[in-house]
This record gives sequence, C-alpha cells and structure tokens, in this order.
Amino acid sequence: MRKIIYLNFLLLILLTTTGKLGFSQTDTTVLIYDTTDYINNMIPTSKVDSLKKNTMSLLFIGDIMGHGPQIRSAYDAKTKTYDYDTVFSYLKNIMSEPDFTIANLEVTLAGPVYKGYPQFSSPDALAEAGKNAGIDLFVTANNHCVDRRLQGLNRTIDVLDTLHILHTGTFKNKEARDISNLIILEKDSIKIGILNYTYGTNGIPVPKPSVVNVIDTAVIHADIDSSKKNSLDKLIIVLHFGSEYQSHPNKAQTDLVSYLFEKGADIIIGSHPHVIQKMMYLPGNDSIKEHFVAYSLGNFVSNQRKTRTDGGVMTRIVLKKENDKTFIDTSNYILTWVYKKPRTNGLYYYFILPAAEYENKKSFFKNPTDYEKMKLYIKNSRTLLNKENLKVTEFIKSVN
Ligand SMILES: [Zn+2]
Repeated sequence: MRKIIYLNFLLLILLTTTGKLGFSQTDTTVLIYDTTDYINNMIPTSKVDSLKKNTMSLLFIGDIMGHGPQIRSAYDAKTKTYDYDTVFSYLKNIMSEPDFTIANLEVTLAGPVYKGYPQFSSPDALAEAGKNAGIDLFVTANNHCVDRRLQGLNRTIDVLDTLHILHTGTFKNKEARDISNLIILEKDSIKIGILNYTYGTNGIPVPKPSVVNVIDTAVIHADIDSSKKNSLDKLIIVLHFGSEYQSHPNKAQTDLVSYLFEKGADIIIGSHPHVIQKMMYLPGNDSIKEHFVAYSLGNFVSNQRKTRTDGGVMTRIVLKKENDKTFIDTSNYILTWVYKKPRTNGLYYYFILPAAEYENKKSFFKNPTDYEKMKLYIKNSRTLLNKENLKVTEFIKSVN
C-alpha cells in the first residue's frame, strides 16, 4: 500500500514536471533522468534502489561465421591449439556489460576436420572465446546447423552445454525441445523468453531424431501461446531469415514480423542476409503493445570482405519495469567492423572493432586502405539506418 502511494506520488510529480506521461522509450528516459534528484529526496533509499534496479539490458549480435582463413588464423602452431580470444578483444567491455548477450552461432562445432564454407565446422575455441567475451546465449537455428549432419548438431549442443552457454534453436530430439525450446532469462523482477527459428537448412534434411526450429507460422504460433503460461514480461523471437546481400527486408520478412507481433511477440531480431537491415521501435498505446524489430544484424565476424558484408550491428535494448509494466526504455545500435589485419605467412588477425570508436584513429590501422574500408562501412551503414530506422539511434560511447 505504501508502495502504491509512493508510486502515485511519483507519477504526479512526473506529470506535473513534464506535462505528459508515457511509456515510449524517449519519454521515459527523459522522465527518469529529470527527476532522479527529486526521487532521491522524496522516496526512501530502498524504494529508489528498487526503481533503479528494475532494468534488464540485452545485447544482440549477428552472425558468427567461421570461414577457412579464420580457422587457419586462429591456429597456434606452437601449442597446436586454436584461440579466438583476440577476435573479440576490442569489444569485451561492450559485450560483457549487458545483463545478457545473445549471438547467432552460424557454424557447427562438429570437431575436426575443421572446415569453412560451404559446410562449416569450427574449433570449440570459437564458442569458448565468445563466452569469455560475454556471450550468454547462442541461437543455433540457422541454415548451417546441419552442415555436419546429426553428429555435428549433437556435438555443437554438447560443447555449448560443457561450456555452460545457454542455447536454443536446435535440439537432439523432441523431448529436449519440449524442455528447452523457450529460454527464460530473469533479472530483478523482469522475466523474458527467447525463441529461435530458421528459414531452412540449405536443403539438407534435418537428421532424425534431432529437431531444428524451422519457420512455420503454426508452430511458432503454438510456441508463443505456450510461452504465455510463464508470465513473461517480454517475448523475443530471433529469426534467421531474409534474402542474402539485400539491404532492405523483403515482403516475406515484413509479413512474418507483422504476423508474429499480432500473435504476441514483443521483440524480433533477425539475421542471415550478411548485410544489415533497418531497426524499428514501434511505440505502444493503450490498445497496442510496443514492438521492436531489427531485420538483420549483418555479419558479426566472417571472412567476407565485400562492401557492406565486412561488418555488422549490435542492438542494445534496455527493458525497465515500473508499476508492474515492463517497457523498452532504450534501444540503440553499435556498428561493428571486422579489421582483417595481416600477420605473417598469409595469416591474419580478425579484430571486431566498435567502428565509431575507431573512425578518427587512422594511425591505429597498419594499412590506410583498411581504415578507408571501415569508414566506407560506417558511411554506408549510417546512410541506410539514418534513413530507414524508426526511433533507433546509434549509441556512441564517449571517448575520454
Ligand atoms: Zn545464414
């Protein structure tokens, strides 16, 4: 009861100081920042802490690929082991900061012989380095998940389990899917669910008894309905879909997103086209729920070097709960670019850079051409996203 009085008082203050009250992301951010001092003075510390605490930050990452040159470059001939930690080293702070970091693992961990395109099997060290950098959950339903048939699918799951990394999208059998299809993440009083599906598996039949979550509106609809018994604050669906190398979502993508929003999905994150596509935050009102969609996060790391395929985008979403209502407080993006830095003997470093932090650091790059390529990536990406994004802006870390 006391709590209700305090909260009502807070709402009154907010209304009078701003003249409006809403749950759209921009409005809410302003409200909280403008009134922090006032809240601190008027509400007992424990209440302030609980108001501040009721947040959950999420970071979504695009395709983690494993082409042949990446595998060869990760090999340490001295120790005869593979090491991918350097790949993520420039992003460690960004990837480990959110409460949950979620990425698409677009290779199998099928064991040796390791191979790149077209049927991927990467060393386990790739997933381990991802975990070291901050990845909490890998989605595994994508067109390469059965590249190494049943053994590859099963071993990928075993490796992730051994590394204690959450995963969903592919399953050893139906029983496993029944138990772990919906991943539930909780922090403070916020509880979200994550589901994952792919458009297909490159024409390779899914080997029995394994299950790959393939996009089927009836199946996803049933999964959404079944997720509702968990009293989730938000339901997130990660989709592997779209046309390769297309910077604009196709009709099948937009139709599916609309359908899933209608059926109960709150946030949809896409990947697969190898290039980035637009992000939209759609505010809600009394009769419509708010929604967020990122159609394609592009390549997080790969050996693809053509324009637009040499980078990706990370989407950062902060959820907040107030008065038992959970809403998207902020949603923004961070551009990433793969700096393929020559080493020796035809080997490379594959550094994923937070692009905006390096856009004025020409001297960082060994070869000025690489710097220009990154600048072009930034320019192309900003041109696209500034034009097509809806209420999702670039997050640029202040550099001291
Ligand atoms: Zn794909």
